[in-house]
Amino acid sequence: MNDNEQLKRRFTDDERSRLVDYFSLLIEIDQQEKARYAKLKDSPQGYPMDGEGHQCGLCFKPIHGDTSGWFDKWGFKCSNCQDAVNRRKIPGSLCGDYSHEKSIPDTVLASKLNISVWTVRMKIKGGEISGRRIPGGPYIILRKDNPTLAKVLSSLA
Ligand SMILES: [Zn+2]
Repeated sequence: MNDNEQLKRRFTDDERSRLVDYFSLLIEIDQQEKARYAKLKDSPQGYPMDGEGHQCGLCFKPIHGDTSGWFDKWGFKCSNCQDAVNRRKIPGSLCGDYSHEKSIPDTVLASKLNISVWTVRMKIKGGEISGRRIPGGPYIILRKDNPTLAKVLSSLA
């Protein structure tokens, strides 16, 4: 069987059933997310949300167990990051930047570059990289604060 024939074959019952399950799951996730935003009408400041299985939208830490976080118009955050947003240490608008268009935590940057987070922090302490600290959490590196970031990072490679 060549590739073309393989693409044209029909789905088996099992595959079809798995696809249906998969799309049902996507719809369920989408509905849960819509319900979370709808709930903000009654609680404009947000509300506590069970964190199990979620990732903080700011520090990207996975949440385990019954640790709760907070959901507001910016999305879900761990309680530590929410505290930093409440105390205006970090703008809530950076939450949910999953493709890192505006910002990236130093921890995520280090893991993407496969270097130690301490290497990145040395650059922050030395002033070569500008980072905004989440107290008790990572530094958030904003693109707009770091026009020469690519150059600094290439020196680390
Ligand atoms: Zn967090």
